[in-house]
Amino acid sequence: MKYKFLSIISAGIILFTSCQSKSQAENASVQDSTSQTTKNQAETEPAIDVSKIKVADAKTILARKQVPILCYHQVRNWKPTDGKVGKDYIVEIQNFKDQMKMLADSGYHTILPDQLYAYLNTGAKLPSKPIMLTFDDTDMDQFTVVRPTLDKYGYKAVYFIMTVSIGRKGKFVDYMTKEQIKQLSDEGNVIGSHTYDHKNFKKYAGKDWEEQLDKPTKKLEEITGKKMTEFAYPFGLWNAEGIPELKKRGFRMAYQLSTKRDEKDPLFTIRRIIASGYWSPKTLSNSIKNSF
Ligand SMILES: [Zn+2]
Repeated sequence: MKYKFLSIISAGIILFTSCQSKSQAENASVQDSTSQTTKNQAETEPAIDVSKIKVADAKTILARKQVPILCYHQVRNWKPTDGKVGKDYIVEIQNFKDQMKMLADSGYHTILPDQLYAYLNTGAKLPSKPIMLTFDDTDMDQFTVVRPTLDKYGYKAVYFIMTVSIGRKGKFVDYMTKEQIKQLSDEGNVIGSHTYDHKNFKKYAGKDWEEQLDKPTKKLEEITGKKMTEFAYPFGLWNAEGIPELKKRGFRMAYQLSTKRDEKDPLFTIRRIIASGYWSPKTLSNSIKNSF
């Protein structure tokens, strides 16, 4: 029985290596010399009291210019076993560093969900060239590679965690521990929910709401000591029927991929683009301009 349970878990972990692919990943043990912190992000906005914000009507929200949001998964070097599709979800380390440098050199400032929420609902001012960086699926390289790279530019990000993976070592990929997740949160990044085990949101019924939403929220709130308000749909897949379930549970915004936003609930269908492993910094720059 015990053996069977463990097998299911480890089989699961391998399947979940990324949002849309079963690409294989080994934690490329990365030696990233902790780069000195140069705070380019000088524009520190005053703290926003989001509890006072009234949700605007959908038309108002849809009329505002979208803030570009990038979605990343693994950040590591490609291996011969990586598939063609999988590489869309694996950005090589130097390429990732070059992409972040391009953003900084182009004058982009990262923003976090509180700022996006205030902007979309009230029109609150954002820093110049705002962008949001999001990282899905709990991969260890997000701590070992992404974190020090973002630190260099004073960038902050949103990490969407699937709770089944926390602290696990998979056959192909390792996952962040709860201590690392807490550290990211303590350092001013935002932790969001990405379900328990990446089950397709469109298929939730019965106990799924508890397993995929309530329990992960409780766990992530225990780890971070902060309220969970952000949710990323597994595979970016959503349906309008599920949105009330998110609202009921106190989520404020939910993130899909790049399909059209819902006309009634734009805050629960916020668009992101996957920054493909095949993209150069130049291609990324063009995609940001063309997609939002
Ligand atoms: Zn995912």
